Amino acid sequence: MKEIIPPPPAIVRNQQVAIQQLFQQHVVPSYGRFELVLSHGQGSYVWDVNGKRYLDLGGGIAVCSLGHANEEIAETLSRQARQLMHVSNLYYHEPQGRLAQQLTRLIAPGKVFFCNSGAEANEGLYKLARKFGHDEGRFEILTAENSFHGRTLAGIAATGQDKVKKGFAPMVAGFRHIPFNNLQAARDAISPATVAILIEGIQGEAGITPATPEYLLGLRALCDEKKMLLLIDGVQCGHFRTGRFQSFQRILEGVAGGDKFLPDGISMAKSLGDGFPIGAFWACEPHGDLLGAGTHGTTFGGTPLGCAVALKILEVIERDRLADNARATGDFLRNHLDRLATTYPGVIKNARGVGFMLGLELVEKEKIPAFAAIDKAASIQFVNRLHDAGVMTIPSANQRVRLLPPLNLTRVQAEEGVALIESVAVKLAQA
Ligand SMILES: *Cc1c(COP(=O)(O)O)cnc(C)c1O
Repeated sequence: MKEIIPPPPAIVRNQQVAIQQLFQQHVVPSYGRFELVLSHGQGSYVWDVNGKRYLDLGGGIAVCSLGHANEEIAETLSRQARQLMHVSNLYYHEPQGRLAQQLTRLIAPGKVFFCNSGAEANEGLYKLARKFGHDEGRFEILTAENSFHGRTLAGIAATGQDKVKKGFAPMVAGFRHIPFNNLQAARDAISPATVAILIEGIQGEAGITPATPEYLLGLRALCDEKKMLLLIDGVQCGHFRTGRFQSFQRILEGVAGGDKFLPDGISMAKSLGDGFPIGAFWACEPHGDLLGAGTHGTTFGGTPLGCAVALKILEVIERDRLADNARATGDFLRNHLDRLATTYPGVIKNARGVGFMLGLELVEKEKIPAFAAIDKAASIQFVNRLHDAGVMTIPSANQRVRLLPPLNLTRVQAEEGVALIESVAVKLAQA
C-alpha cells in the first residue's frame, strides 16, 4: 500500500530549509540575512514557520508603524483596491490630494511629491536642490559622515559611509561629507558650488545619534546666510517615532527659537505606509513649485492605494494618540535601557535615542567572553541571542542594536521586551 500514499511536498517536510534554499538558488544575495523564516504577524508579534513567536521591536526597520496585520489597514487596502488601485499621474484623484494636504498640515505650508521609497524621496530632494541652484551654477550637497540616505547611485554618493560605495565607482558627483553635529566644519566646507545641506534628524543606520539642538539651529542660520537649502532625511526618524511628527520638533522642544525652526525640505518613507511601499518629500513655500511639469516623476508615486493606506495610518495615529504612546512608552523603554547599561557594564556601554527610536551600544566584542572567539560582529551576535530569547531588534554597525517598534507597542509589551533583553544581558555578563 506504500506506493499510493504520495510523499509530502518538500515545502511541508521542512519549510525552513526549503524556503532558505529557494533564496540560495534564486534571490540575489545582497542581504546578510538572519536564520529566521517568518510566516505571519499580529500587532507587535511575528511568528516563524516553526511556530515560534517573537516580540517585534525592530518593526521592519521603523516601517511597521501600526504593527502587523492591522485590521483597519487591511480593510482600507481591500476597499481601495476594489474602488481604484492605480491611475497614472496624468490624472487627479482624491487620496493623493488629501494625503499631501495632511502632510503639509503636519509640517508647514509647502508641497509634497510622492514616490515609492526612502532613497527615491531623497533623490527628489537632490533634484530639488540642483534645480534651486542651477541658474547660479550651484549643485553641491553636503551630507554627514556616518549618514545613510539609500542605495541608489546618488543615495550611496550622499551616504557618508565607505562600505556602501565600495565597488560602485565612479560616484555621482556633487556630494561631500562633513562631521555630524559640528557646525564649524559645516561652515568651513561650504564652497561657491554648495547649494544644500542634508542631514538625518537622528542618524539611524549609524546606530541612533540625534542632531543636537544647537546644530539644527546653527545649520538653519548658516543656510539662510549662504542662501542654501536645509534638507532633513526623516525617512527613519520621522512619522511620530520620536513623539512628534518630525524628530527635529522633539529635539527642539523647549529650546529658545526651536518652535520657529523649519527645514526647506523633508524626505519620508518607512513608517508612512506600515509596510505598503510609499515615500514622499515635502518642500516649503516657495520651493515646492521648483519642480514644474515634466521635471520629475515616477509611475507608482502616490497611487490611490498607497495614499489611502497612508491617510488611514495618520488617522489612526491621531485618533489613538500614538505619538503620545511613542513618547511615554519610549521613555519608559529608554529608562530601562539605561538601567541595563548600569547593571551590566560588562556587556552594555550605553543607551541612546528618544521615543521609539532607541539603541543600545555594546562593549567591544573582545571584552564579552561569549562573543570574543566568534567571527561575527557583537551587534549580530547579540541580535541572534535576542532571537533565541524571542525578541526581534535591528543591528547597527559593529556594536549597536536598534529598537524601532510599532507606534502602538503597549507598556506591557515594552516590559516583556525589557525582560527578554535583560535575560540575554544577564547570561552574557555571567559567561
Ligand atoms: C532606510 C533609509 C533610507 C532609504 O530608504 P529605502 O526605502 O530603503 O530606499 C534613507 N534614509 C534613511 C535615514 C533611512 O533610514
